[in-house]
Amino acid sequence: MIDYLIVGGGMAGCNLAYNLLKNQRSVHMIDENSPSAASNIAAGIYNPLLPKHHKVAFQAELIYPIIESYYLELEQYLGETVHFKQPIHYYIETQAELNDWSAYAYNSNLSHWIEVHTSRSDYQFKANNGFLKIKHSGWADSKKMTAAIKAKLALEGALTNAYFDYSELSITDTEINYKGIKAKHIVFCEGCDLINNTINTNLELKPAKGEILIIKTELDIDYIAQQGVYMVPLGNQLYKVGSTFSWDVLDETPTEAGKKEICFKLEKFFKGNYDVVDHYAGVRPSSGDRRPILGALKPYNNAFVFNGLGSKGVALAPYYSSLMTHHLINGIPLDKEISTERYKNKTIGL
Ligand SMILES: Cc1cc2nc3c(=O)[nH]c(=O)nc-3n(C[C@H](O)[C@H](O)[C@H](O)COP(=O)(O)OP(=O)(O)OC[C@H]3O[C@@H](n4cnc5c(N)ncnc54)[C@H](O)[C@@H]3O)c2cc1C
Repeated sequence: MIDYLIVGGGMAGCNLAYNLLKNQRSVHMIDENSPSAASNIAAGIYNPLLPKHHKVAFQAELIYPIIESYYLELEQYLGETVHFKQPIHYYIETQAELNDWSAYAYNSNLSHWIEVHTSRSDYQFKANNGFLKIKHSGWADSKKMTAAIKAKLALEGALTNAYFDYSELSITDTEINYKGIKAKHIVFCEGCDLINNTINTNLELKPAKGEILIIKTELDIDYIAQQGVYMVPLGNQLYKVGSTFSWDVLDETPTEAGKKEICFKLEKFFKGNYDVVDHYAGVRPSSGDRRPILGALKPYNNAFVFNGLGSKGVALAPYYSSLMTHHLINGIPLDKEISTERYKNKTIGL
């Protein structure tokens, strides 16, 4: 009997599997590896700043300092480069905004996270009111990372590449049984497809569709540029540019409207010529309260969920997959704000 059966192999499932293995637990993953899974689409940026709110993200002081060391260690395990530490240059539109940012950075602990620059950073950008250099930032190739972790699992016979059929699952107090795979515990990490899970109907996901472009341009920068949209340098003059947010149509189809919106915002701040060479869409597994969702699925004592990574899977996976691992192995309690406990008064299906 294995220790943990994991359903879903995106950023949540893969990073959880890695942490469990690191802690000498056995795992088996079932993943259908949908090409449009959020982890296969994401730009992968991690950015602690919430510019519209002039503050840093929820639990930023816990989450961001460990990202670099976590991914370095993961890269050693995988033998592949999947993470790129890079500053973000967030262009400021007006002089008034620049003055505000200077005051915020001076009066708060924001100076730990940002530097305010009054000069422009590259002549190819239109903004000439300076920029914020965001520290503790960068990006990770979540598609390559999850594929590499799954390749490791496959080598150990610990991956089933298939759809998980909920009707075949049996859970008793002492055993999980899925088509003859026996486990002590099961952890659901299906991203937006949580909606199909016959147990999890009480958890509140508020998924957000996003579209993203790959463009080719002669720009050569070693930072992520941002104003309205971001430009992530991929090398060979290729950049990821995005992304859109919509909550009504939740399919995975790239649209003309999405492309137009991204190009419009890009041309507002970028002067260069470019060609669109690719266009993707996916759905982010955001929660209603924008907090990750970790913990037990009552009434079971051996069924769990790790989801709700929303638009920040790359930033959140290192800290929360490790927290989830310690919760699973050592029973370390989870804050109510992130735990499934916050849904306990809602009805549970099955
Ligand atoms: C356009 C776009 C841009 C983004 N940009 C960023 C960014 O810049 N930075 C950032 O950090 N995040 C970004 N994200 C968000 C990021 O992609 C997510 O936070 C993260 O990938 C979520 O990982 P996950 O494992 O929870 O879900 P997913 O990646 O969706 O993985 C779920 C996995 O479970 C599998 N699965 C589901 N149900 C079943 C089943 N029944 N049987 C078998 N397998 C199943 C799916 O096939 C999939 O492989 C972006 C997302 C989008 C769409």
